[in-house]
Amino acid sequence: MAKKLTITSLCWASLVLVFTNCLFVAAVRAEVGFRVGAATADITPELGVSLDGPISKNGPVTGIHDRLHARAIVFDDGQTRIAIVICDACMIGPDVVAAAKIAVHQRTGLRVDRMLIAATHTHAAVRATHIGTGTLDNKYHRQLAQRIADAIVEAEQNLRPARVGFGSFDKAEFLRCRRFLCKQGSVQPNPFGQSGERIKSVSGKSATVIEPAGPVDPQFSILSIEHSDGRSLAVLGNFSVHYCGGYQRGIVSADYFGHFARAMEMELTAGEGRSAFVGVMSNGTSGNTGSIERGGQNYRPFEWMQVSARILAAQAVQTIRRIEHREDVTLGMQESELEIAIRRPDGDRLKWAEDILADQNTNRVHPHRWTRVYANETVQLSKYAATMKIKLQAIRIGPIVIAAAPCEVFAETGLAIKKASNHSHTFTIELANGYGGYLPPPEQHELGGYETWPARSSFLEVQAEPKIRDELLRLLQRVEGP
Ligand SMILES: [Zn+2]
Repeated sequence: MAKKLTITSLCWASLVLVFTNCLFVAAVRAEVGFRVGAATADITPELGVSLDGPISKNGPVTGIHDRLHARAIVFDDGQTRIAIVICDACMIGPDVVAAAKIAVHQRTGLRVDRMLIAATHTHAAVRATHIGTGTLDNKYHRQLAQRIADAIVEAEQNLRPARVGFGSFDKAEFLRCRRFLCKQGSVQPNPFGQSGERIKSVSGKSATVIEPAGPVDPQFSILSIEHSDGRSLAVLGNFSVHYCGGYQRGIVSADYFGHFARAMEMELTAGEGRSAFVGVMSNGTSGNTGSIERGGQNYRPFEWMQVSARILAAQAVQTIRRIEHREDVTLGMQESELEIAIRRPDGDRLKWAEDILADQNTNRVHPHRWTRVYANETVQLSKYAATMKIKLQAIRIGPIVIAAAPCEVFAETGLAIKKASNHSHTFTIELANGYGGYLPPPEQHELGGYETWPARSSFLEVQAEPKIRDELLRLLQRVEGP
């Protein structure tokens, strides 16, 4: 009996100790308050690493126009710590993302479901998705994961008391839907030889074009972070444009994403010790949104991306000056995985593809100049599993929420999420935490076009978009603040 009493007393004593300890930790955390840290890591590939895509044929790296970076911001409210990292990459596969998250967790203990890692989608950078399979490419993938982890770890070390605010402006004149609805019967057969599609992608100069096949999301969003004394600490910009382009084959560039980040650094930290500030530019929902070159002149390679970055940065700075920053900020984050079916080829389609690839006659006229490319994609897609887990996230930073998906999401999806969101400030980040290819809504699948053709760049089931959109909205509801 005495022994039992002793054990019970010990249990009570430990409980009281744990409880007191929790109170103490909570008090310390509350005292620490809201903090933010930011850092960058260079992720420029060495010469020879593949930039290749089966259609863009950008080749191996032969030179560097401007260097590539992973740009990390870490938020901490004393209870929850969240990292957002935006990388100058065309896309980043789930294995590279997972390796980076595990490396961070091992080094600092940050939970793997508290990190958002996304690509900007500059096309003058690597597709870290094993489309290139050389030893140099694999080495780069490993380095990329480590460098992303380095950026997050350094950002955690840089945590300082901070305030955040949100601002936005519209910039529709830089954007256009790059899918064009064309007259019935005017669109050539697709690479698989099927007629009746209504979409021409990218080039909209044809006389058969009726109108753009979708909207654009004109909103340029700004999450501004400053030190408690009012100096700028970091800016996370967000805009829904695929890229600016104007590249040269084999030459690496971060496109306007990198130039915007640097321009913000110049604008906001002149004479204040620049290393402390980090500018970040993320991609919203731009799967079907292209860039319009403004100014009526023919820009030289790499010029428009810099011109547009300067224009956007100047307007962003004006907006930031009007933002009211607050320090009573709490954080929330939700992550889930949706099982989505893959549009794998059926037996007939696979046989068609194998016959095309087996044909040695290089003079053969195919229904489309990309028929052989898509025959190869068909064979590759037949090796995919029947379903894929798609990782989705919602992050809340005070009154600002972010919905993130691994796909090239269409503007209409981003607009629908912003409209249905129960938060006052909402934006989206695509190509986050892996790669799920293009995500056309079902009605865009009906119209056809490049973004819908089954390949390693477009492989989710036709109903994937409403499923993913609904789940993102459910996650956004669950990050509701106190
Ligand atoms: Zn693209």
